[in-house]
Amino acid sequence: MKKKLVKSFRRDSYNGKKKESEVVLESANFKIHKMSNRPRPAPENTILIATFSEFGCESLGIMYCIPALIQEYPSKYKIIVGWYGREFLYRHLCDEYWEITEDYMHLREYANAFHHSSKNLRSIELSLKEYGTVFPSEYLGKITIGIKCNNCGLFMNSVYGNGNTWKEENGGKNTCPSCNSSDMTLPMLQDVKGWKKRSLPLPSPSEEKINYVKKYLKKPSVGIFARGRKQYGRNLQPEFYINLIKMLEDMGYNPIWLGEKVSVQPCPVDHVLDWSRMKESRDLESTLAIIKNCDFTIQFWTASTRLSGMIGVPYILFESPDQIWGKKGQEGIRRNLCDLGPRKLAANHFLDVYRNNEEGLSIVKQCIEELNAGNYEDIIGLVGNKKAMWQYKKDNDERIGSDI
Ligand SMILES: [Zn+2]
Repeated sequence: MKKKLVKSFRRDSYNGKKKESEVVLESANFKIHKMSNRPRPAPENTILIATFSEFGCESLGIMYCIPALIQEYPSKYKIIVGWYGREFLYRHLCDEYWEITEDYMHLREYANAFHHSSKNLRSIELSLKEYGTVFPSEYLGKITIGIKCNNCGLFMNSVYGNGNTWKEENGGKNTCPSCNSSDMTLPMLQDVKGWKKRSLPLPSPSEEKINYVKKYLKKPSVGIFARGRKQYGRNLQPEFYINLIKMLEDMGYNPIWLGEKVSVQPCPVDHVLDWSRMKESRDLESTLAIIKNCDFTIQFWTASTRLSGMIGVPYILFESPDQIWGKKGQEGIRRNLCDLGPRKLAANHFLDVYRNNEEGLSIVKQCIEELNAGNYEDIIGLVGNKKAMWQYKKDNDERIGSDI
C-alpha cells in the first residue's frame, strides 16, 4: 500500500523543540499483515491505533493502553499502525498490523515518549482518517498520564504545571467537571499497583523460532544492547564495550550483539555475532527468541530492557537515579509495569561511567555475580553521595511500584 502524504505543518513539534532537519517525505509505504479472518468493514466500524512512540513507552501501549482501548471498543475492527519489524508485538491485539517500511525507521529519532515531533508521522496519522476513527500515538500517552472519566470519557490532566493535582484544581472535588460522575480511572503513573493487575503479557516467541535461532548462539549466552542514539546522546565509548566483551568472556559467557541498527552502535569486535546488523534481526520474534536463549541481557541508559522484561528473561540495567526515582523521570514506573522477570538495576550517572569505564565495569561484574546468586536488590553505583541516594530510593520506591 502506498500513501501520498499531505503537506507538512508549519508547527515544528508538539514539544516545542525544533526539528528542522526532518526532510518531508513524499509518500509512506506500509506492509499490511492480516491477523484475523474478519473482512475489513466500513470506516465507521474501524479503529486505527498509531504506535509511533519510543520503545520505552510503546511497551506500555502493548501491555496496557491498547488492551484498555480494545476493551472499550470490543466489536470494532482494529488496525494498528506502527514501526517496521514490530508485527509480532501486536499480532495478538489487532485484525491488521500496518508496518511502515524500513526506510522510515530513522523517524524513531523524532519519537519522544508517546509524543513525536515528526511532520511525516503526523501526516501519516492524519491521512489514516479515511479508514476509520484514528487514535494517534499521543492518545496512548493520555491513557498513561490522564485521569479518565468512565462515564463521559473526558481526559483530565493528572498533575498541573503549578504542581497541583487534578483534585486540587477541581476545588477538592472528586467528580468530573463535565458530567459530575465520580467514576474515574486513575492514570498508570499514579496507580502502578492497580494497573499492573490489568497487564496483558506478550505471547512467548514460538518454540520453532526459539530452536531455530540456537544456531547463532553458544551457551551460556549474554545479550548486549549498546545504545547508539544520534539525537539524545548518552552513548558509552566503543572501548567500554570491547572491555565489557572481554570481561564477559573471562567469566565464561558468550556475548551476542543485539538491538535495532538505527539505535545501537555497531559491534566493536569481529568475533562476536552482530545480530543487530543481520537481516533476520528485523523480525522481532526472532530477536525475542534469541533473548529467550540468553542467561541475561545487559544495557546502559536504554529501554531495551523491555524485551527481556516482557518475556521474563533476567536483565541488568545502568540508569540515572532521576530517571528511576525522580518525580519527572518515569522510567522507574514504566519498568515496574513491564517487567515480568528478575532484574538488576545499578543507578549511575552517565558521565561518571563515561569518565571512569573501569569502575563502571566493576559494577557490571558485581551485578552479574549478585544476579547469579539470586540477589535482585538495586545497586547504588557512581552517583556522588551514596547515602543521600539510598534515601532518595527509599522515599520513592513505593510510589513507583518497585515493591510489586
Ligand atoms: Zn465525565
